[in-house]
Amino acid sequence: MKKHNFSAGPCILPEEVLKKASEAVIDFNNDNLSLIEISHRSQPFVDVIEKARSLALELLGLENKGYKALFLQGGASMQFLMVAYNLLNKKAAYLNTGTWSDKAIKEAKLFGELVEVASSKDKNFSYIPKTYEIPTDVDYFHCTSNNTIYGTQMKSFPETSVPMICDMSSDIFSRQMDFSKFDLIYAGAQKNMGPAGTTLVVIKEDILGKVERQIPSMLNYQVFLDKESMFNTPPVFAVYTSMLTLEWLKDLGGIEFIEKVNEKKSALLYSEIDRNPLFKGVAAIEDRSNMNATFTLADKNLQTKFDKMWQEANINGLSGHRSVGGYRASMYNALPLYSVQALVDVMQELERIS
Ligand code: PMP
Repeated sequence: MKKHNFSAGPCILPEEVLKKASEAVIDFNNDNLSLIEISHRSQPFVDVIEKARSLALELLGLENKGYKALFLQGGASMQFLMVAYNLLNKKAAYLNTGTWSDKAIKEAKLFGELVEVASSKDKNFSYIPKTYEIPTDVDYFHCTSNNTIYGTQMKSFPETSVPMICDMSSDIFSRQMDFSKFDLIYAGAQKNMGPAGTTLVVIKEDILGKVERQIPSMLNYQVFLDKESMFNTPPVFAVYTSMLTLEWLKDLGGIEFIEKVNEKKSALLYSEIDRNPLFKGVAAIEDRSNMNATFTLADKNLQTKFDKMWQEANINGLSGHRSVGGYRASMYNALPLYSVQALVDVMQELERIS
């Protein structure tokens, strides 16, 4: 039986996506050729990347609004520097909500002056700062919508006149919001979209062309836009699998549908964390992520017992990130509600026998 997979990323993908993706590796489109042995310039693959790009915009409600979607390489980490390379002229503002924001800040500092508008480092990033000012003379404001490691999530976004850039790696396509607030969104595929190896970048074209520096082609958004996301050979398998997941999500009813499922899953787990005296939540309650729930055992002596129990219950990937410790249950789009129930059952059983 398939494990209940709470891995933080790479992570669970829908069964039907895995099945279709694996079939395409052997025989794509019943053409007696593998997806990964045909030219990326052949029409069947061009159709795949075009479909993936248009589905991404459609699901985010960004069609016909001046946005384009790109499938790039280098992970979300490459976007930390690409954003700054392409958009930072003099000064940029960053909200620091965890390791990934911190890394984005470090890269951007190579290109100009950085204003850290607020940081939650003082409490090991267990909350989202709420009161801060975004200067109006910056080239852009950057934030991280969901902090995968700490289990915090921005529930609202600031109003600002400067372009907004968001790292949505760990919660894209999981909840409804007005995505047109953002001028550039990026997300590594390996959570809600597909395997590692590609990064979705959704970009409003009119924010480009404002920096003076020369930009190498492979790091230049405009080059990839001009070439319809195919300046060089794209990661064909990752793009195809992402397309399948986006199709799966559209068929289910899109973000509107999956948001309700995600709310049910996180409500079930958080209510058990709050009810069960053996567990404590890590993140500030109002900032809790519906993708990654972080928690600890009230009594560390129960750790060996609890670890044995969840592993025996066919659960995978529950250990917390080394910088936080404890446990982290990642509940991405493809994780079924019954997997969360299986975890809650183990938590209740631990209480019963302790
Ligand atoms: N941003 C966030 C929010 C992440 O969760 C991660 C990876 N877990 C990254 C950036 C880095 O992504 P990548 O490994 O694709 O570079």
